[in-house]
Amino acid sequence: MIPAGPSALRDLPLVDHHCHAVTTMDLDRDRFERFLTESHDRPPAGTTAFDTPLGLALLRWCPPVLGLPPFPSPELYVERRTDLGPDEANGRFLRAAALSDLLVDTGFLPEAATTVPEMAGLAGAPVFEVVRLETIAEEVAASGAEAGRFPQAFGEALERAANSAVALKSVVAYRGGFGFDPAAPTENEVVRAADRWLSQGPPYRITDPILLRHCLWVGAELGAQRGLPLQIHAGYGDPDLTLHLANPVLLTAWIRHVAGLGTTLTLLHCYPYHREAAYLAAMFPHVYLDVGLAINAAGPGAQHVLAEAMEVAPFPKLLYASDGFGLSELHFLGAALFRRGLEGVLGGWIEGDHCTAEHANRIARLIGGDNSRRIYRLRVDRTAAG
Ligand SMILES: [Zn+2]
Repeated sequence: MIPAGPSALRDLPLVDHHCHAVTTMDLDRDRFERFLTESHDRPPAGTTAFDTPLGLALLRWCPPVLGLPPFPSPELYVERRTDLGPDEANGRFLRAAALSDLLVDTGFLPEAATTVPEMAGLAGAPVFEVVRLETIAEEVAASGAEAGRFPQAFGEALERAANSAVALKSVVAYRGGFGFDPAAPTENEVVRAADRWLSQGPPYRITDPILLRHCLWVGAELGAQRGLPLQIHAGYGDPDLTLHLANPVLLTAWIRHVAGLGTTLTLLHCYPYHREAAYLAAMFPHVYLDVGLAINAAGPGAQHVLAEAMEVAPFPKLLYASDGFGLSELHFLGAALFRRGLEGVLGGWIEGDHCTAEHANRIARLIGGDNSRRIYRLRVDRTAAG
């Protein structure tokens, strides 16, 4: 095992490089459980969302933060959370996650979401903003932009939004997947596609493959100019996506196309294609990955997922993320399962005489936070909220 001390893994301040706001709503049992799954459907009759690896891990690790012993009944757990109130519960979980920094995707919010400064206050750590390309395009559409002006209006809106961000993000995986033509579309193609889209009227949900490619290319170019990594959702997510089309190896041609720009790409979640993502990170200098979301979804299996991601990924290419959304439990649990999982993997390496404790601590510091601090330039002089 890694020796105890200030550099030990359980004390290591983590950078959560991809998460979302938490909700300030009072949650009854049903609302609470809906945050425990990516599925749009209820669990089978007579079962609950706690009957999952995530539910089990939550009942093991989260109750002590609220002053309960491990494994209370779900009823008792939700009751205790309600008694404490959402602000107290959120503050306890976000502080217990022991994060040095959070990068929050502000493009998709739970109901009654905390603001960026509120998240920073609750976590006691700086919170940096990540801007979603598709959300900006949809806002431009809703603002009444004309098709002929769409490329310029999108570029300007993205530049403005990027002023307060440390990264950009794409959810193209959710809008048809990665099997797209990797080349940048021409301005004429973009204007014609914008005309078709805008003439449909609201609500404006961007699904046109030409417009999505345009957003990605503009994001990659702006990211390169400003030193903002581009986060790309890959793999595991809600059933809006068709999983096999979210396999990041389908992005290989596009990854090659943008290599010359100098944009850093961070592949988010990746499960069950985390081995493919690790391969891409090993081959392409501008590609990074995390197994956020999968760590929570796998619960007791988190160490196994992490071990698979660590089979071939270079250590400077792996990042920590919880992908916590809505429930502050998810931000905490991601950190707790990551620390335990990484300690298990690296402890096994030490035990097997594959590395020393010094190597293990260095690897843990890289993956836990130093890689994110480096690529998102979190320690450069920049005004953080909080
Ligand atoms: Zn996310």
